[in-house]
Amino acid sequence: MTDLHTHAEDIVAQFSDHLDLSVDEVEERLDNLVNEYRVPVDEARRSVVNSYLDEAGLERDALGGGGGNASVGLAEIDQDEQWLDVTAKVVELWEPRSDSVAQVGLLGDETGTTKFVAFETSDLPELEDGAVYRLENLVTDEYQGNFSVKLNRTTTITEVDEDIEVGDDAETVEGALVDIQSGSGLIKRCPEDDCTRVLQNGRCSEHGSVEGEFDLRIKGVLDDGEQVHEVIFDREATESLTGMTLEDAKDMAMDALDTTVVADEMRADTLGRYYRVSGPQFGRYVLVDEFERLTGPVDAEAALIEARSI
Ligand SMILES: [Zn+2]
Repeated sequence: MTDLHTHAEDIVAQFSDHLDLSVDEVEERLDNLVNEYRVPVDEARRSVVNSYLDEAGLERDALGGGGGNASVGLAEIDQDEQWLDVTAKVVELWEPRSDSVAQVGLLGDETGTTKFVAFETSDLPELEDGAVYRLENLVTDEYQGNFSVKLNRTTTITEVDEDIEVGDDAETVEGALVDIQSGSGLIKRCPEDDCTRVLQNGRCSEHGSVEGEFDLRIKGVLDDGEQVHEVIFDREATESLTGMTLEDAKDMAMDALDTTVVADEMRADTLGRYYRVSGPQFGRYVLVDEFERLTGPVDAEAALIEARSI
């Protein structure tokens, strides 16, 4: 596998000042882990690097300059648990929702933006809004097709004296809202630190039975006649789309003793209408940052039904 060969070359280069390694022996160790033990490549790489670090009596930090990790555009990340080096600008900082998170926000480069998280336990210097940094030894994370990067204890942070024109990775799609999928309306999310998974029957796939926190969202399908696009409205976008606040939705569910009435009400208000939405693409979804209602092609039959219902 050429891929392993490249990794092996990187590792040899990484240790060139410390150990006398041959590409073949490194590749063989990677190959053994990956093909014999079915270890994911990035994990295998980490494990091999760690064993050489031990052998050389080094801390990971000591390798310094360009940990030899992949360089991938932030908006092009499509692998979980991949180690990266990036030069990126801090585009936004958000209020951490959990005490274990030191910083959370958006990093941007020429390709676009991605979410980053730094944990308290990693004890890293704080990133400043608008500053540009060389960040080495980040690791990617994936949740439901959404990729983010995590800063960790081994991450090195160097402020860089340059500006970055952050790319716009927003997608714009439009069409008739033809479906609101299950998992829409009034939902509950796992309250565990940095989890936020949507609960199914009161259970988080990671943390089991938990006391969820209410949230609103719509997972919708827009059909432009040629293609369908899956879109997710978060709470804010859902409130603005439906005019129904989270409090309204909770009241409605309480009255009906049933949370599904909320999604039903949302369907009644929005299905068949035309929208243009834009926002970042995550996996197969466009996450709606902005939307507008279009007057769009009017289906005569639908219009008639609507007219009768007035
Ligand atoms: Zn959870």
